[in-house]
Amino acid sequence: MNPLLTPFGTAPFSRIKNEHFMPAFRQAMENARKEIDDITNSEEEPTFENTIEALEFSGQHLERIASLFFNLNSAETNDTIQKIAQEVSPLLSEFNNDITLNEKLFRRVKNVFENKDKYPLTAEQYTLLDKKYKNFSRNGANLNEEEKKRLRKIDATLATLKLKFGENLLKETNKYEMHLTNEDDLDGLPESAKDAAAQLAKNKGKKGWLITLDYPSYIPFMKYARNRELRKELSMAFGSKGFHNDELDNQANVLQIANLRHERANLLGYKSHANFILEERMAETPEKVYEFLKELLIKAKPAAKQEFKELSEFAKALDGIEQLQSWDGSFYSEKLKQKRFNLDDEKLKPYFKLENVIEGVFMITERLYGLSFEEVFDVDKYHPEVKTYKIYDSDNKFVSLFYADFHPREGKRAGAWMTSFKPQFILNNKNERPQISIVCNFTKPTESKPSLLTFNEVTTLFHEFGHALHGILANTIYPSLSGTSVYWDFVELPSQILENWCYEKEALEVFARHYETEEPIPMSFVDSIKKSATFQEGMATMRQLSFGFLDMAWHAADPSGISDVKQHEVKAFEDTLLYPNNPETCMSVSFAHIFQGGYSAGYYSYKWAEVLDADAFDYFKEKGLFNREVAEKFRDDILSKGGTEKPMVLYKRFRGREPKIEALLERAGLIKKTA
Ligand SMILES: [Zn+2]
Repeated sequence: MNPLLTPFGTAPFSRIKNEHFMPAFRQAMENARKEIDDITNSEEEPTFENTIEALEFSGQHLERIASLFFNLNSAETNDTIQKIAQEVSPLLSEFNNDITLNEKLFRRVKNVFENKDKYPLTAEQYTLLDKKYKNFSRNGANLNEEEKKRLRKIDATLATLKLKFGENLLKETNKYEMHLTNEDDLDGLPESAKDAAAQLAKNKGKKGWLITLDYPSYIPFMKYARNRELRKELSMAFGSKGFHNDELDNQANVLQIANLRHERANLLGYKSHANFILEERMAETPEKVYEFLKELLIKAKPAAKQEFKELSEFAKALDGIEQLQSWDGSFYSEKLKQKRFNLDDEKLKPYFKLENVIEGVFMITERLYGLSFEEVFDVDKYHPEVKTYKIYDSDNKFVSLFYADFHPREGKRAGAWMTSFKPQFILNNKNERPQISIVCNFTKPTESKPSLLTFNEVTTLFHEFGHALHGILANTIYPSLSGTSVYWDFVELPSQILENWCYEKEALEVFARHYETEEPIPMSFVDSIKKSATFQEGMATMRQLSFGFLDMAWHAADPSGISDVKQHEVKAFEDTLLYPNNPETCMSVSFAHIFQGGYSAGYYSYKWAEVLDADAFDYFKEKGLFNREVAEKFRDDILSKGGTEKPMVLYKRFRGREPKIEALLERAGLIKKTA
């Protein structure tokens, strides 16, 4: 019996064998295809119910299996699972393509879309209709045959170019190594970084130490190495990846990607790639993104210049540096930070025992939303380390199942994330509650010491739990609009807002207690945490803004006139420059976020989300950190609503107005709080 092919409540991990996956996928895909055929071949006139809603609830079993499988592939994988992933991924894309390219199905969807004024639709239903229609139209369903052919060609070429872009970068990264044989050259590096460099050398059968362009090797060297010439060498190698006019050069790829994206957008009726992307974002248009970036720039620039001046003076006083260069920045910043705050992870860690932090985040959500948590031991799980909880609301009604998987293991990918095994939705009058999970890679306990978190790990836990709450408290009808299924520049609001509590005395005293003495964290530490969090915030903001401007410069206008990648970039960076420009380096050719990953015309969203979370948190600060009224509004207007309405509509309902950037500027120390 294949446990994936019989209906299951929670994922039946202990009964699943690897050989169950492929047959289950195939069977579920076949069933889903039949469900789609039933919609397509219906003799009835298309209606919202028989077409849009039917499409929404088709393929549910397939989605359960897929989420279970891909969650495993991230958190507890092995060679066999990876092989299955490679086998099933093309089948799943083919399955999805068969839907978006299904002309008969599109005609029915379009019929409902064009007659939408005839139906009495709720806001949520309207959003669903719009989403389903756009899923076709944005993939070219309205184009003629000739145009469709061109679109497929563009998509295929883009896929190849992005792959090539990434491969070049990877090869460039792996090609370089700095081989050091004199220990003095590692002067300043912490022991752990030295050991890692020695290990790298040993792995390659070399004597001495190796420094590479991988972040775990590159970052500590730039931060701690006293040898300025070597920092320069490493920094130049890093900044000139894909920029050597050889077979691994990415300049032509960048130009081609930008031009094809523009052509694709035009073909679909959009002015630019950014217009195409931003149609499904809270920011909506390139003009609004520019307006946003420029507003922040005006506020951040004076602070950034002041910080840069201070840093330059500090470097000059310390080492006689006349002109601070980009390869000096992180080295002297680290020195200055230590001098100012004298705060390190080792001092803080004893106050952040994992169990206490978990209890803290639970208590904070209990005070805000009236939730209670019960650890349960009878839920099937994929690894003994995974913890499972049942979550209830204030009148003891079951809200969600919650999985938490905290420590690194072989077979788990790096980082921290929230995911779900089952979305929330309402079908046949039954509110199906979700199954939410967070996965992290926190410091493991040892025989003598419990798991003690760095402050960064503490905020990470709050961050992921914030995402989890978006899923846990979801209360929508349609699964594709539930929980975190919101526009990309809105999805970090619930996660980032929760991080704010980690900096507040009122919250810290709830859970930050010494793991041996039970003493609460000294308030001077809390003060330093807060102050160091805004250290050089002006410069950091300028850096983020420069990336945002560069991204828009590639995607918000016709790129056909651009022939010189570096020159185009220099122009985009004009207003955000702090360090002298370096003709031998180029950012665009290694800007994987926008040319390989999914962040094109979306880089601004990092700052955008910060504005939202600071502005929303300001409401709590105004009314009280644990004010139930504000919390309830946040729950009812934001968390439970998922993507059922446009984010700006939801936000305004919660806040009573559009978000303002002032709260972020105050939090970042860029402006003083006005009375
Ligand atoms: Zn996040």
